[in-house]
Amino acid sequence: MLTFHFDNRFVNELPGDSEEGPRRRQVQGACWSRVLPTPVAAPRLLAWSPEVAALLDLAAEEVVSSEFAEVFTGNRQLPGMQPYAACYGGHQFGHWAGQLGDGRAISLGEVVNRAGQRWELQLKGAGPTPYARRADGRAVLRSSIREFLCSEAMHHLGVPTTRALCLTATGEPVLRDMMYDGNPRHEPGAVVCRVAPSFIRFGHFEIPSSRGDHELLARLVDFTIRRDFPDILGGDTEEKRARWFTTVCERTALMVAHWMRVGFVHGVMNTDNMSILGLTIDYGPYGWIDNYDPEWTPNTTDEENRRYRFGQQAQIAHWNLARLAEALAPLFSSEAPLQAGLERFIQVYSGEYSPMMAAKFGFAALRDDDGELIAEALGLLQLAEVDMTLFFRALAMIDPAAATLEPLREAFYRDDLMHSHEAAFQSWLARYAARARADAEPMEVRKQRMNDVNPRYVLRNYLAQEAIDQAEQGDISRVHELLEVMRRPYDEQPEYARYAEKRPDWARNRPGCSMLSCSS
Ligand code: AMP
Ligand code: MG
Repeated sequence: MLTFHFDNRFVNELPGDSEEGPRRRQVQGACWSRVLPTPVAAPRLLAWSPEVAALLDLAAEEVVSSEFAEVFTGNRQLPGMQPYAACYGGHQFGHWAGQLGDGRAISLGEVVNRAGQRWELQLKGAGPTPYARRADGRAVLRSSIREFLCSEAMHHLGVPTTRALCLTATGEPVLRDMMYDGNPRHEPGAVVCRVAPSFIRFGHFEIPSSRGDHELLARLVDFTIRRDFPDILGGDTEEKRARWFTTVCERTALMVAHWMRVGFVHGVMNTDNMSILGLTIDYGPYGWIDNYDPEWTPNTTDEENRRYRFGQQAQIAHWNLARLAEALAPLFSSEAPLQAGLERFIQVYSGEYSPMMAAKFGFAALRDDDGELIAEALGLLQLAEVDMTLFFRALAMIDPAAATLEPLREAFYRDDLMHSHEAAFQSWLARYAARARADAEPMEVRKQRMNDVNPRYVLRNYLAQEAIDQAEQGDISRVHELLEVMRRPYDEQPEYARYAEKRPDWARNRPGCSMLSCSS
């Protein structure tokens, strides 16, 4: 039998809703509502992460048991579980949206593992909650595959993220109009069990603040500091809260710098999708950069304004932190500490970004005029439609003593653009090679430095879509294979070279590959 040691601090230390069950409602004066997952017809395990199972002290035999599938689709609760949905609000696409909350995510409890680490288990797609508004509380297989694979891929890339223990099928159809064009269809339903030390979002603080409930706001802030930021000790309450906000700003900056390093576009950076721990959370219409383009967003809902485009993610994170600061302001006697936190975001982000770019280009340390060389390369990559991931791995193959464009050619999507920009690339490459020679180190050293930060494998949009197409036909093997590849994204893995290839032409404008709706 599955056993975990639960210590459910969120529900035991914070006020809950007096009403139980999923009746849709505004929930005042409480951080959470008691609600059980709605049982499903035919729970079946489709995929699981061995690393996350290990974090939870689970043996493989336990994971493949029928009990596991029952528990992690929400059909059965284990002793110690106290399922709940959290109340939060948020700014969506720049506008205050009021109460949102866990509409289809249900937390089961907080596991403390043998190493003493706390991991909250949360089922996404487990049925309606008081926060489901008009929606059904369910999730479809395609978006669940995307969340499951990407959470784990991001972790292995070294990007702070929530994790995924498993992906299960519910055996029940879910009706979705994927492109919002009046063509709904039934899709297979699924549940992902997400795992993180905390699922608290910026929006958790925004909702009590928006209602003028400063007492609840203060309780939640101090709880978050106690449980999720145990290193923040000493000083009076306001000092602790100030240090906490600064830490949130720092972690958020670090997270976005990593996104920029690996070419990840979140797609829906609403404040309800921002983790207080600076973890990438809520994998919806996210995407990976194929041809380098800071203007690109995968999210069709955001096509017009491109608010959440690749190149604007740091500004948006800062904007979101400013909304959090506003929500927290009633707890501070002056705005200065909050302003200082926001300032810190900018410092940390630029402090991370520049050395990270230097490493991506293989420089031992950033020099004064490197910024220009880097900006010029990025400009060329965009103009000539060059694949970001392939470019940086190929650049590591350039011999500074005899630099030719040859290794870079495979990274171009279009021959015409390669030819029209060839002279510009040649000229850039000559200066790049001179710069690399100035580091006076063996080529292998530079190459290793680059390959440590430039992945060979990322979860390209078309790769996830191929796995989804097969899974919808009943074959889950591609999901397993992708998970396997993404466990070692910086290694060559020649047997999986096919998964490093650039986006094929068929995927250029295909839904799911280059554009995604929020429908999930
Ligand atoms: P998202 O854009 O996915 O971050 O979702 C925004 C809000 O809508 C959150 O409160 C979600 O819980 C809720 N939501 C999204 N899809 C569903 C669904 N199928 N059923 C219930 N709530 C949902
Ligand atoms: Mg969300």
